[in-house]
Amino acid sequence: MKILVVNAGSSSLKYQLFDMDTEAVLAKGLCERIGIDGIITHKCPGKDNYKASVAFPDHKAAIECVLSLLVDKEKGVIGSVDEISAVGHRFAHGGEKLNKSAILGDQELEYLESIVGLNPLHGPPAISGLKACKEVMPSVNHVGVFDTSYYSNMEEHAYIYPIPYELYEKHKIRRYGFHGTSHRYVAAKAAEVLGNKDAKIITCHLGNGSSITATVNGKAVDTSMGFTPQDGVPMGTRSGALDPTVVTFIQKAEGLTAEEADKILNKESGLLGISGISSDCRDVSIAAEEGNPRAQLALKILVHHIKKLIGSYVAEMNGVDALVFTAGIGENDAPIRAAVCREMSFLGIEIDEEVNAKAPRGSFADISKAGAKVKTLVIPTNEEYMIALDTQNLTK
Ligand code: AMP
Repeated sequence: MKILVVNAGSSSLKYQLFDMDTEAVLAKGLCERIGIDGIITHKCPGKDNYKASVAFPDHKAAIECVLSLLVDKEKGVIGSVDEISAVGHRFAHGGEKLNKSAILGDQELEYLESIVGLNPLHGPPAISGLKACKEVMPSVNHVGVFDTSYYSNMEEHAYIYPIPYELYEKHKIRRYGFHGTSHRYVAAKAAEVLGNKDAKIITCHLGNGSSITATVNGKAVDTSMGFTPQDGVPMGTRSGALDPTVVTFIQKAEGLTAEEADKILNKESGLLGISGISSDCRDVSIAAEEGNPRAQLALKILVHHIKKLIGSYVAEMNGVDALVFTAGIGENDAPIRAAVCREMSFLGIEIDEEVNAKAPRGSFADISKAGAKVKTLVIPTNEEYMIALDTQNLTK
């Protein structure tokens, strides 16, 4: 069964074609600058990479180009588009109703359109991508996989904010959580490694956007991102959790509109805001090594917040069996992992610093110290595979 996975952004569309019989990725690529001009990068294992300028006035033109490349005699991997059995679409937000992966019919599409206010950045482009794919491939099922749905089993006390309850009822202001597809994938892998499906697992997805999730028995019980992906640990350009009064204070003190304050907290804060150097952890780490005090401070703040969240989830779950690092920083940045795990032996978290330092970038590694109570693992995330798997399960 061949499944196409699509992740549409405002000016981009990422895709992967899976053969689910072998779980192999047959082709993957990226359409960029949609609505501006257009570039496609297309890769198939065993073939030369292909990059070309193509006019992409909209998402439909991009997906048409993807399909023509997939069936191309030289650059392609399938004989006909009919070989694609179903399409899986990544959605950041499924609201309260789309609380598990689902085949997207008219009703579901209508609901997704009704909640774009909750998800103004990712919602509209993902819907455009879905509509374009439905138009170009009308005879197959299109499945939505929602980052928020992993959190649909959280208890009320974990997702209701301590603000007037009417605001939740009226505007659906609550903790939704994000990156759920990634946390679900790595938590399941960790449970497999432990051989314990009931395990208590803390997964740290640390990338340009970062979140930490606590999972018990395969279900998320708490997570650091909230109503939006702005909450939790400091990120590339997002502040993460703050005293909420800071926002209104900045607005008054700097004479800013709500949108301007929002831009500061979303685009100019985090690693970039503190270091003044870059949102990219690699750049900040290099500057810190060279002695830049604000780069050093940015990394200390990042590690401080990750540690605090890990501690709070251990308290919430009354223990932890595994701590998992994933995503760009989590998979590749050994010094950050070491700094997070240092002086955590009280919680049973102890790593072998040498194994950690030598762990191959972007690969699975068990970095726990021999005899440590908690397994500390590096697990490369694979959201696309998870989307393909859900799509297969719903449509086969
Ligand atoms: P992501 O959003 O998962 O792509 O992660 C992006 C973040 O991961 C950036 O802050 C990068 O600096 C960081 N990152 C990616 N690759 C590496 C690497 N090889 N070593 C250290 N950090 C990395």
